[in-house]
Amino acid sequence: MTPLRPPVLFPLFAKVTTIPGIGPRLVKLVERIAGENVVSLVWHLPTGLLDRRLSPKVGEAPPGKIATLTVEVLAHAPPPPRGKVPYRVTCGDATGKITLVFFRGESDYLERILPVGEQRVISGKVEVFDGRRQMTHPDHIVPLTQIDDIKRVEPIYPLTEGLSPKVLDKAIRASLAKAPELPEWLDPAYLQRQKWPSWRDALRLAHAPQADDDLEPTTPARARLAFDELLSNQLALALMRLKARVRRGRSLLGDGRLRAKVKAALPYALTAAQDRALTEIFGDMASETRMLRLLQGDVGSGKTVVALLAMLAAVEAGAQAALMAPTEILAQQHFETLRPLCDAAGVRVEVLTGRVKGSARNALLAGIADGAVQILIGTHALFQKEVEFHDLGFAVIDEQHRFGVHQRLELADKGTGTDVLVMTATPIPRTLTLTAYGDMDVSRLDEKPPGRMPIDTRLVNLERLDEIVGAVQRAAAGSAKVYWVCPLVEESELVDLAAAEERYAHLATLLGANVALIHGKMKPAEKDAAMASFSSEGGAAVLVATTVIEVGIDVPAATIMVIEHAERFGLAQLHQLRGRIGRGGRPGTCLLLYAAPLTATATARLNILRDSEDGFLIAEEDLRLRGSGEVLGTRQSGLPEFKLANLMAHGELLAAARDDAKLIIARDADLASPRGQALRTLLYLFEQDDAVRTLRSG
Ligand code: ADP
Ligand code: MG
Repeated sequence: MTPLRPPVLFPLFAKVTTIPGIGPRLVKLVERIAGENVVSLVWHLPTGLLDRRLSPKVGEAPPGKIATLTVEVLAHAPPPPRGKVPYRVTCGDATGKITLVFFRGESDYLERILPVGEQRVISGKVEVFDGRRQMTHPDHIVPLTQIDDIKRVEPIYPLTEGLSPKVLDKAIRASLAKAPELPEWLDPAYLQRQKWPSWRDALRLAHAPQADDDLEPTTPARARLAFDELLSNQLALALMRLKARVRRGRSLLGDGRLRAKVKAALPYALTAAQDRALTEIFGDMASETRMLRLLQGDVGSGKTVVALLAMLAAVEAGAQAALMAPTEILAQQHFETLRPLCDAAGVRVEVLTGRVKGSARNALLAGIADGAVQILIGTHALFQKEVEFHDLGFAVIDEQHRFGVHQRLELADKGTGTDVLVMTATPIPRTLTLTAYGDMDVSRLDEKPPGRMPIDTRLVNLERLDEIVGAVQRAAAGSAKVYWVCPLVEESELVDLAAAEERYAHLATLLGANVALIHGKMKPAEKDAAMASFSSEGGAAVLVATTVIEVGIDVPAATIMVIEHAERFGLAQLHQLRGRIGRGGRPGTCLLLYAAPLTATATARLNILRDSEDGFLIAEEDLRLRGSGEVLGTRQSGLPEFKLANLMAHGELLAAARDDAKLIIARDADLASPRGQALRTLLYLFEQDDAVRTLRSG
């Protein structure tokens, strides 16, 4: 049974259209900045404030400042018909005059709200024009009796075009009114020590800043909300992990005979880092507890052979192993890399993707079901119901962040007590590892195989495209292999494709058959043909590609990479791309083409890439420059995006949340106690429904 969201949260998870004044037109705009539910507006915190507390006499109103003035309306000066001048209303008090300026002012309306001879309170920015005070489109105009309608301090919210601050503010007030009192889920002693308000008070306070300091992430209100979010994240991960662990693992460790054969067939010795990671993995496999380990290693650090040796240990013990890759190209490539090694050990390895069809597919499925296939490589096709293993003991997920926690466990569900190794090439900083994987065990390949050549990275203005094309042409006339990467802009894959196809056509006129094109929308056979041509001697010298080549492609002969519009990529993504060259014992050149002008941050980011090849350093610097919200292009990366927490400011809270989650699991893993029940509400509040689902009902 799926547990249900507690009714107390229903108002928050209603659509934003349940808020008066938010109709079909506005709902799109609200969704763009916040989300589709009332709760997303509640999380939409102000980023600034307007202070209207200054209320001087007119003669003393300081230009450039927001002021709230009490004035008498003196005279209206409508513009002449068809005149280009604005509508003006003169107001004043005993100390001086100020002109209110309205472009496209309706005289009926203005005469109604600003009747001559009466007093009005106006609020807005004081300007000086021609030596006289004026205020253009005051934000507020009210009679003295309604002075309280003007908030002395107004929060400023991030907006989108077409959404007015007033409408958004009203919607946020209405959504806050729907926020219920909730049972306290924080440890009372911790709450007291931190001097934090209750959840509901924290929300109210966060939305009602009184001074700039109140916008800091460290205020009690904001820190509390951030902690709530981090705790829900850490608790959810801990619960998922617990579920995976509870199902007992099995001791899976063979006698080493297959591994010895493969090692003998390798043209190189393992690096110390690879040996260390394998020792850790074998330790997990030998133990009765189920393994859930992350293998983290920069591009080119040699994760594949580690995965193979681990899989072989399971095969030696009589079980099957599977390796899941994020794309077909990569699955195919893993297969081609591993097959000769498996052959050397007499191990049967097969590949299953969407393109294996008909009788070949049936035969393969039969081989998987009866255990004849010992190692299976594939895409998410491995998840399908029709894929039944004889005895899946070990699963490797080469995920590059494209799979979620849920999917990882799904593959593991295909066996009993299946050990899971997750491999990632994205050098996520430690803080982020924690948010994405919780307290998962981590092995790191922090050393590259010897013989790696340095890559000379340069930033080049796109205006010099012709020169670059000329250089590529000359290189192609020699024996060089060149990647030419066109950016993938999320908005429209079609537009991106068009750009790649156009570049391909352009280069093909200069280089003829020497150019190949590859992109995600091509048929598998076409992709294979393009890859085959580019990887063979005498084949295509230039491969024009969208970012499909980002994941794992290995053409050792490639030495040059051109990346168009480098400023549009995440740093880690650029680093991954660049990792495709300089593999074959010859130095590489990477040209980052950018469209000028670059912002200071964009320049700094690209400079980091130019100056360093250390994936971890790059990721840390990227985090520093962009903040966690955007790090590594979070959206594509599958890392959690926080609405309230900011890992730069709340790193310590993350550690505290992890410890708290651990303690909760140790004491009340079923979340059955009163605090446990409150924590369930917290999980639902942050949409961690999957995690609640792991709990037994109750
Ligand atoms: P990644 O970690 O990016 O998946 P790969 O597993 O694709 O890296 O390895 C990159 C390249 O390094 C491959 O061509 C592989 O054969 C080679 N390689 C792996 N381990 C070693 C080693 N210990 N010594 C030399 N070359 C190695
Ligand atoms: Mg790899």
